[in-house]
Amino acid sequence: MKFLITGGAGFIGSAVIRHIINNTDNSVINLDKLTYAGNLENLLSISNNDRYTFEQADICDRSRLEQIFKQHKPDIIMHLAAESHVDRSIDGPSEFIQTNIVGTYTLLEVARAYWNELDNGRKQAFRFHHISTDEVFGDLPHPSDSTNALEHLFTENTSYEPSSPYSASKASSDHLVRAWLRTYGFPTLITNCSNNYGPYHFPEKLIPLVILNALEGKDLPIYGQGDQIRDWLYVEDHAHALYKVATKGKVGETYNIGGHNEKTNLQVVQTICEILNELAPNSSDLVSYASLITHVTDRPGHDRRYAIDATKIGKELNWKPAETFESGIRKTVLWYLNNQQWCQRVLNGNYRRDRLGVKI
Ligand code: NAD
Repeated sequence: MKFLITGGAGFIGSAVIRHIINNTDNSVINLDKLTYAGNLENLLSISNNDRYTFEQADICDRSRLEQIFKQHKPDIIMHLAAESHVDRSIDGPSEFIQTNIVGTYTLLEVARAYWNELDNGRKQAFRFHHISTDEVFGDLPHPSDSTNALEHLFTENTSYEPSSPYSASKASSDHLVRAWLRTYGFPTLITNCSNNYGPYHFPEKLIPLVILNALEGKDLPIYGQGDQIRDWLYVEDHAHALYKVATKGKVGETYNIGGHNEKTNLQVVQTICEILNELAPNSSDLVSYASLITHVTDRPGHDRRYAIDATKIGKELNWKPAETFESGIRKTVLWYLNNQQWCQRVLNGNYRRDRLGVKI
């Protein structure tokens, strides 16, 4: 099979491509605009493989998409291209509306026209898998508000209540995908996943930002009290789940994906500090990296808690994460310690260190 993967040069898309090339016989076309978040270096380990092709393109560019579909004739679309950083969406929502909504619409239309012309066998087998986030659901009760808060989880039936321009743009794209299924019978699937972490994560996001700042003896910025709860999933576990959904999932279905790893942001940062104390003890006067933690003004509209009920994908597709938070975060810290040149090259790009941008 030929997979067309949008956003394949990003954090999760590159993990999906490495997974498919390394573990299956399928081919991959990586379609990516290469925004500040796209980095082909994430794919160096597989880029010479005969089953891998890269096409630089914007998902808003209809004629370029038509040309790529005509040339490569894909069987499965996995749509990950997006503007993904909540803080950037608050500073300037326009790119988020353009790529996440207009881009998804354009891709749906080009893919539908292509699918309509396929012969019956290929038409039946064709899939459009839209990759989305748990942030579309808004936030859940927090333990500081009620004693039974932790019993509440996002399921596939939770209604949408997005809080940020980012999550509202992702919610809009989910609605478009469902409408294309219902109206045109276009064979779509949707996944909504919790926060990912792991290798190749762009250093504006919480976990890599904290690791790199700590190593340089800089402040570790935490929004508000740091009591916001997220459900963390190791990126390679997500990539594995996405491949299962794209190839074995039932058309028209939605699957929630999560790691059952609810942690407050403060717990995450403290855990990273403990691992760094052990693996990269600081030679200066610093007693512990945790002494670098500083609290900064909270993000407007900040969701307080996300947590996923991943029962459905577990039961129906026999998926469960391989990593616990403890094993995954240790692997992640080690990866950043061993790949500081990658970090420097990424940081020399478009990233502003002075901005306390944290995706949490
Ligand atoms: P990312 O920002 O690391 O990567 C996004 C990729 O999309 C980049 O390579 C970028 O160049 C590309 N891109 C952006 N605009 C484009 C356009 N107009 N045309 C073509 N390519 C474009 O994002 P990520 O963290 O890898 O997230 C991938 C997807 O997964 C997104 O749809 C995101 O909403 C979703 N998601 C992310 C998380 C997470 O924790 N990171 C969790 C759940 C869902």
